[in-house]
Amino acid sequence: MSSKETKKDVILIGAGIMSATLGTILKELDPTITIKVFEKLDKAGEESSNEWNNAGTGHAALCELNYTSEKEDGTVDISKAVNVNEQFQISRQFWSYLVEKNLLNHPEQFIMPLPHMSMVQGADNVEFLRRRHAAMSAHPLFKGMEFAEDEATLQEWIPLIMDGRTSPEPIAATKIDYGTDVNFGALTRMLFDNLEKQGVQIQYNSTVKDVKRAEDGRWEVKVVSGDGKLAYHNADFTFLGAGGGSLHLLQKTGIPESKHIGGFPVSGLFLVCNKEEVVNKHYAKVYGKAAVGAPPMSVPHLDTRFIDNKRALLFGPFAGFSPKFLKTGSNMDLISSVKPNNVFTMLAAGAKEMSLTKYLVQQLMLSKDQRIEELRDFVPTAKAEDWDVVVAGQRVQVIKDTDKGGKGTLQFGTEVVTAEDGSVAALLGASPGASTAVKVMFDVIGKCFPEQMPQWESKLKEMVPSYGKKLADHPELLEELHEATAKTLKLDQPLS
Ligand SMILES: Cc1cc2nc3c(=O)[nH]c(=O)nc-3n(C[C@H](O)[C@H](O)[C@H](O)COP(=O)(O)OP(=O)(O)OC[C@H]3O[C@@H](n4cnc5c(N)ncnc54)[C@H](O)[C@@H]3O)c2cc1C
Repeated sequence: MSSKETKKDVILIGAGIMSATLGTILKELDPTITIKVFEKLDKAGEESSNEWNNAGTGHAALCELNYTSEKEDGTVDISKAVNVNEQFQISRQFWSYLVEKNLLNHPEQFIMPLPHMSMVQGADNVEFLRRRHAAMSAHPLFKGMEFAEDEATLQEWIPLIMDGRTSPEPIAATKIDYGTDVNFGALTRMLFDNLEKQGVQIQYNSTVKDVKRAEDGRWEVKVVSGDGKLAYHNADFTFLGAGGGSLHLLQKTGIPESKHIGGFPVSGLFLVCNKEEVVNKHYAKVYGKAAVGAPPMSVPHLDTRFIDNKRALLFGPFAGFSPKFLKTGSNMDLISSVKPNNVFTMLAAGAKEMSLTKYLVQQLMLSKDQRIEELRDFVPTAKAEDWDVVVAGQRVQVIKDTDKGGKGTLQFGTEVVTAEDGSVAALLGASPGASTAVKVMFDVIGKCFPEQMPQWESKLKEMVPSYGKKLADHPELLEELHEATAKTLKLDQPLS
């Protein structure tokens, strides 16, 4: 199909937050588009997007230390943090638009206000955090960030972390009050409910087995339903939003862009506490520093979570290794993703990432007592009986050949792979993940619907008033939008 033709028939594979977001945006841009969704499980949002399978952090770089780095001259580079924050601003505006249009009701069921903090221990780290705070609090996107190293303030901010602390090491924290906890599972389900009401067909218990280009250039999707029935569906545009399953489907398309890409699965565990007297002593997401040699996704954090109208505490993640690409995947996932075109990329990554593999295996071998010991770094008074282990989702990190990193470089970000004619797109990778779904899906639309973009621009600006602008360069607009979205999303948090 030529990219000049209108893409009216759309297939979304997978019912996670990414497909939910893409379907919602497309329906807003063109209500006449027909969309079919195929999901292998019996509900939406059951894999990584599920509330218990991810940490629910509205990643806006308000607390994650891995989004800043120290330059050789000792100054702190905050450019990555600015970029992540800009992406979250887009999500905030879009969700706010959906609430205003009554397409999403009860925002408190999917987003809650929660202070975001970074916490470090040790003199060097405290010094770094002080410099980091100076750089960040001077930037409009991080206005109002506070820094504290005195015991009285820390006791007030993080009593559970300070109680029973005997270590003589200095400790410091930064705090921003306008962070969020997002229930991406609830959001996904709400978006799909809404899509169904708009006539989108969602077929659950339906696994996509193949994605092939038909003779007319459209995509033919082979689907096996729960009762074993086989069906073929055609689309002008197909989105592979299958989470960890996207790489296998991308490989099946055979497009040149699918070559020389591999995936490396990293599993995750959290410790969860539901004991009221412990839960009530902590009210924040507190991100620490990753251990030396640990990958960025294993930064330890202690989070207040709001799930099913209840408050809980989550600590982790503990990384681990499993060959599955989905929590409900197969032990053959990793092996079957190795193809003649990516075998050298994968082997190169294997040789380069020995220390990561060793780290993951060590993490996997930890007993519950050892995990509780790690938790005590955060919560010195933690009792093993108050905390349960829960298995989180799988992340499949992308491996590809890059100019900077060379053959087989492990990527920690989100990657969108599209065919040259924009008729198929796949979302790979995990971080910053669900928080940036709206920006990432805008990118997909920009690449795959270039002909429609001029006529869609005004609608895109209605959905996201800062569309095409960097809020960092427009502090007045930032203030205005922050206030408006806080009101609509019931976040009630001033930008200071
Ligand atoms: C431990 C952990 C912590 C995280 N923490 C955060 C966080 O704090 N904040 C944040 O923003 N992000 C976080 N993320 C990332 C975030 O969860 C993901 O980026 C996001 O949920 C991915 O959404 P998705 O729609 O691409 O995939 P998923 O939610 O995994 O959905 C994919 C769907 O596709 C279906 N599927 C797969 N194969 C097929 C097939 N062949 N046919 C039909 N259906 C198929 C699956 O069943 C699934 O329902 C975290 C992830 C993990 C694992």
